[in-house]
Amino acid sequence: MTDNNTPTNFIRQIIEEDLASGKHSSIRTRFPPEPNGYLHIGHAKSIVLNFGVAEDYKGQCNLRFDDTNPHKEDEEYVEAIKDDVRWLGYNWAGQYFASDYFEQLCGFAVELIRNGKAYVCDLNADQVREYRGTLTEPGRDSPYRERSVEENLDLFQRMRAGEFEDGARTLRVKIDMAAPNMNLRDPAIYRIRRGVVHHQTGDAWSIYPMYDFTHPISDALEGITHSLCTLEFEDHRPLYDWILDNISTPCHPRQIEFARLNLEYTIMSKRKLTQLVAEEHVEGWDDPRMPTIAGLRRRGYTSAAIRDFCNRIGVTKSDGTVEMSVLEASIREDLDRTAPRRMAVLDPLRVVITNYPEDQEETLVGPNHPKDESMDSRELKFSRELWIDRADFREEANKKYKRLVTGGEVRLRNAYTIICNKVIKDVSGEIKELHCSYDPHTLGRNPEGRKLRGVIHWVSALAAVPAQVRLYDRLFTVPVPDGIKDKPFQEFLNPDSLKVVQAMLEPSLADARPGERFQFEREGYFCRDDKAADKLVFNRIVSLRDSWGKG
Ligand code: ATP
Ligand code: MG
Repeated sequence: MTDNNTPTNFIRQIIEEDLASGKHSSIRTRFPPEPNGYLHIGHAKSIVLNFGVAEDYKGQCNLRFDDTNPHKEDEEYVEAIKDDVRWLGYNWAGQYFASDYFEQLCGFAVELIRNGKAYVCDLNADQVREYRGTLTEPGRDSPYRERSVEENLDLFQRMRAGEFEDGARTLRVKIDMAAPNMNLRDPAIYRIRRGVVHHQTGDAWSIYPMYDFTHPISDALEGITHSLCTLEFEDHRPLYDWILDNISTPCHPRQIEFARLNLEYTIMSKRKLTQLVAEEHVEGWDDPRMPTIAGLRRRGYTSAAIRDFCNRIGVTKSDGTVEMSVLEASIREDLDRTAPRRMAVLDPLRVVITNYPEDQEETLVGPNHPKDESMDSRELKFSRELWIDRADFREEANKKYKRLVTGGEVRLRNAYTIICNKVIKDVSGEIKELHCSYDPHTLGRNPEGRKLRGVIHWVSALAAVPAQVRLYDRLFTVPVPDGIKDKPFQEFLNPDSLKVVQAMLEPSLADARPGERFQFEREGYFCRDDKAADKLVFNRIVSLRDSWGKG
């Protein structure tokens, strides 16, 4: 990969020490999504970290679907996740499902039972809670804690055979009901879930292992050296280690926690993103306003920009919320270098060049990039009638207004200068068109002795292609929409997050490929939508400058 700024962080330091000391001769990481939704930009942080360190230290990274919650998971998500990881630029060494290990996991559970370290408990969920105690009070032993090994083996086998109702029994590990860390108070490692169809294992299982049991064992079976996860699992690490210390797995991976990514003006939890989709606040998981990888991709983000963003924000131990402008800066920098320039008028106002012959059309040339000649140029059509943007004209304005005014002169980008002589209005007083004159001697050079106000973009009305342009804005109106007490995040949806306009584009844009990105000069970066491929639709990726909050 060509990303130039190789990051350093505390996890890379640990890996370097482990390689230098010979603790590991090579490293192996994994990215372990649950297939219960699409990946979001927070997952990208974990992907760039896990695949990035594997790449940089010549190790391997697995893709593992953590699929122990059958009722929320779906094959659609499995495929979408694979697509997104590939699109981000990574190849996994091995693809696994936690469900691949169900039989082995069951064997390890039996091993724990045989060693007197796990028992079948008949307490229901409420009772379990009651027995667990609190942060300040120790819990109490379950009355089923001292069952014999034989009875436990028999009951566990019957749980597996589907003899008991959901919730009737659990298999718990025997650790310490007085442990200050609540996660160690005999946590359940198996629960009963009958009659659900699992997307990988069908109806083969009536019991499903819990995350805290499945994860360390899956890591160990795959020979993971460094198991990187987010900070909320820090309190689970003693359990992760306990599991591996008490069963006969081939190795003992090291769990290391890092801070999750939170991003302003959006939400990151799959559960809440699922709600946005289900309640139709957005058009789907790939709606360009979604913080999902699929949404960002359709919006026009490049994978290079997302990787760059993940490296910029870094990996630390402290939680925080990253400003949207950091993500936007990454895509702006990428596209400033790589996106061809085009002209598009988003709010068209007709201009008639009264001294230009009616039946004439001429071909001009516009460079594709002002700073990169290797990107070549494209043809522009110039004619008597043009479109300019309504916002680029005022009847009167002071000197600070660097656009067209009555009696003033501006340059049309890549073309001539024009002066506005007359404003034509309709009965309601709205400006219908402008009558201007052009100076034929100003192609590629400035008029002598006259000062221009500025440069504006335009397209020939004769040659222009109409298109729908979607102007996207923040999805929420507040920086942390799911952090406001007693208010559901839906209350803070931005009603203006999508504005659709009918624009006039320079003719070369008719040939844009779906997914192709451009800078519309003076407007921003845009991408041809790849879903509406039969129509000409452009999505705004990002504006040219960070103008949020500046009115
Ligand atoms: P969500 O609440 O969005 O469902 P999750 O952690 O339950 O998140 P998983 O599919 O279990 O989602 O996550 C897969 C991996 O991605 C995990 O290692 C998880 O820690 C990591 N991850 C998820 N969200 C973020 C985030 N916001 N920032 C960094 N890493 C994340
Ligand atoms: Mg999860």
